[in-house]
Amino acid sequence: MSKDWKKRTTLVHGGSRRSQYGEMSEAIFLTQGFVYDSAEAAEQRFIKSGDDEFIYARYGNPTVRMFEDRMSAITGYEDGFACASGMAAVNGALMALLKAGDHVVSARALFGSCLYVLEEVLARFGVEITLVDGTDRAAWEAAIRPDTRLVFLETMSNPTLEVVDLKFVCDLAHEHGALVVADDAMSTPIFSYSKACGADLCVFSTTKHVDGQGRMLGGIICGSRELVRGPIESYLKHTGGAMNPFTAWVHLKSLDTLDLRVRAQAASAMQIAEALEGHPKIEGVRYPQLPSHPQHKVAMAQSPSGGTVIAFDVKGGKEACFTFLNALEVLKISNNFADSKSIVTHPATTTHQRLPDEQKVTLNIGPGLVRLSVGLEDPEDLIADLMQALDRI
Ligand SMILES: *Cc1c(COP(=O)(O)O)cnc(C)c1O
Repeated sequence: MSKDWKKRTTLVHGGSRRSQYGEMSEAIFLTQGFVYDSAEAAEQRFIKSGDDEFIYARYGNPTVRMFEDRMSAITGYEDGFACASGMAAVNGALMALLKAGDHVVSARALFGSCLYVLEEVLARFGVEITLVDGTDRAAWEAAIRPDTRLVFLETMSNPTLEVVDLKFVCDLAHEHGALVVADDAMSTPIFSYSKACGADLCVFSTTKHVDGQGRMLGGIICGSRELVRGPIESYLKHTGGAMNPFTAWVHLKSLDTLDLRVRAQAASAMQIAEALEGHPKIEGVRYPQLPSHPQHKVAMAQSPSGGTVIAFDVKGGKEACFTFLNALEVLKISNNFADSKSIVTHPATTTHQRLPDEQKVTLNIGPGLVRLSVGLEDPEDLIADLMQALDRI
């Protein structure tokens, strides 16, 4: 694998390993174990396994390793550990690095399950959590302390698309000796800027853009070799969060087209965001590439794109919003995002239902909020569908 390859070449060839048969398409090694030539060889491998030496699929597998190498190459990190889901990756990264008595600062606008891991799981093990408004630099400065061990954030928050000034937060964390774990699910591996801004670890739900076709659950933690093959691998290989080889194989196939898919979806998202902005039945279209987005400048300095997801409020609250959602024909009501099929979600009653009302208010998750994940359909059909459904309110 060449370090000089551009992203699109790496997406097709990065990390490829071929067996003695010289197969063109990546092989799927559906094996949980490996055979050793001798008892001495088995002993040796348990002392130290080399690059292409495996022990057990919970520790590593050739198909999974191809996926890990390709993902770390495209995100700019040295190594990666692939996990069973995005949450296995988030939980694994945090549990591997934290211990009782540590302090964590996290942006408040988080995916519901990430918030659960911080507030319910880590707190139960004696980790102290301070939640801040991720878009407020002064709030980060006020929250970070000499005993802060780790900073967690979503580079672009789900579902309200708040954008964190990542370089500022990484510099601040590093001054205080804290590690930064960035959840890049919304930013996509194509437009990821976590490495460039200095995040120590970058976590993806590969269920999202990497699979991109609503089939597989997966996740990955990318970072330095020291962290990934050190505490991260040790924790995950013994606690069972590993990715299944079949998932890794489907993901490898998906990476071939990732750049084409994400760019097409992001271009459609911008077109749709512009079409929705100013519509009389909508207020507050949130899309980082629109100049009206509160963190537009920071977002555009970090990434050339606003991503594939838009958020907006339908005027008239839940009832008007449900009328609109139920009238859509091409767009489907579901709770995944980054699928090739466009999806609308009502966060207040689904993904964020669990949150108390006052927390919904702080997070701007109102009764009219819609999260729109833009797929690969023709954007003109999507705009026509959205407009006819708005007319039905
Ligand atoms: C979806 C998502 C996750 C969890 O990923 P799964 O693959 O569903 O486990 C974590 N963080 C963010 C920001 C997400 O959008």
